[in-house]
Amino acid sequence: MKKILFLSIFSFFILKINAQTSNEDALFIKSVYDNALSKGQCYRWEEYLCKKIGNRVSGSENYNRAANWAKSTLDSLGLDSVWFQPCMVPRWVRGKKEEAKIIKSASLGNFKLEILALGGSGASPKGGVNAEIIEVKSLDEVDQLGDKLKGKIVFFNRPMDNTLFNTGQAYGGAVDQRVAGPARAAKYGAVAAIVRSMTTLLDDFPHTGTTQFPDNQSPIPAVAVSTNHAEVLSALLKKEKVQVEIKTFCEKLPDVQAYSVIGQIKGSEKSNEFISVGGHLDSWDVGEGAHDDGSGCVQSMEVLYLMKKLNYRPKHTIRCVLFANEENGLAGGKKYAEEALRKGEIHLAAIESDGGGNSPRGFSFEGDESIFTEKFKKAMQWQDLFETYSLILKKGGSGADISPLKKQKTFLAGLNADPQRYFDYHHTNADTFEKVNERELKLGAAAMTSLVILMDKYL
Ligand SMILES: [Zn+2]
Repeated sequence: MKKILFLSIFSFFILKINAQTSNEDALFIKSVYDNALSKGQCYRWEEYLCKKIGNRVSGSENYNRAANWAKSTLDSLGLDSVWFQPCMVPRWVRGKKEEAKIIKSASLGNFKLEILALGGSGASPKGGVNAEIIEVKSLDEVDQLGDKLKGKIVFFNRPMDNTLFNTGQAYGGAVDQRVAGPARAAKYGAVAAIVRSMTTLLDDFPHTGTTQFPDNQSPIPAVAVSTNHAEVLSALLKKEKVQVEIKTFCEKLPDVQAYSVIGQIKGSEKSNEFISVGGHLDSWDVGEGAHDDGSGCVQSMEVLYLMKKLNYRPKHTIRCVLFANEENGLAGGKKYAEEALRKGEIHLAAIESDGGGNSPRGFSFEGDESIFTEKFKKAMQWQDLFETYSLILKKGGSGADISPLKKQKTFLAGLNADPQRYFDYHHTNADTFEKVNERELKLGAAAMTSLVILMDKYL
């Protein structure tokens, strides 16, 4: 009886302590949100990055301008150090505006198609390629058709699955056509490839993105077509043979040096243990790179801004990392992990925001199985604190740039933003500042800051 009494007093005491701690945390998180919403800078930064600098593909002068701007902005926050981390990045240039048209169709005559060359596409011969198109729905179908594709233009037309709640999953289920389709078609002698744009919308914006060719294969012209025009092509193919002419002017130039931008607040107790937050500073060469991934960059910068504003002194060193070259190579992410290893830095956790600046929905976590169970269990204890802000914590993917840290046993987290509109803009001329909502962007930054602080205290 005595023992039971003792145990219940003991557990009451523990519960009370836990309740106090989480109340303190809840109040602190509330002040993070207060500051983000009333004094946050990220929306203003996003405007500058989008409107004064604009899109910033790897290796471009605009990328360098973005890196210089990010460094001087981080410099103005009074951090302990800010620096450039160099890496070699590929340099693909679009050249003149590409063109494509259906020619001499019995029902449509000559018909201009809305297209964008894919990053990695080759140039057409002067005067363009001109060939009959064959529609396929998968890479397997390309293999089955084999030599029948010689001299043809292959048209990949499997739509993203509109019925999936998570549009990222729908993207994952269709994007093999863009990444690997053109090279697969070229293997059988196809002269060009057209890929249906990666979006759930039916509209007139073609979506670019990376396509990959092996080193021993010369790239053929590879373009994305708007979903509306993919529908036109497909309907026409049911009635007649379709001939298309494509002109592309792309070029692959030698690799150049670029920089990821890093800012940090030094840890007061464990300065060689790191928690990083980041996004990628490069974008495609269209639109303004607002949601992809200007948002993730300015939110990550905001994390350090808010920590300074709140006078939060972290135990671990907290870094904001704006990675170079996510879109067509991941050179910045790979270099960052390589340098961490070389310098013996211990990366406790890394968070990435690369799902757009829409309303935050929560975080998903992953990591090497040797650390994951224990860390995830700790993270799940913070679920109550995040519930106030409608954020859900769960297992799942994190981010491409931080993924090379997985081998170093880093606990990885990805900010999940509402995915419903992200692929309306992704990799298009429509990804502009106007599509970003100030309040939603700031809420994402507040969520990331809160997670970093909880990780710093408890992980
Ligand atoms: Zn991105």
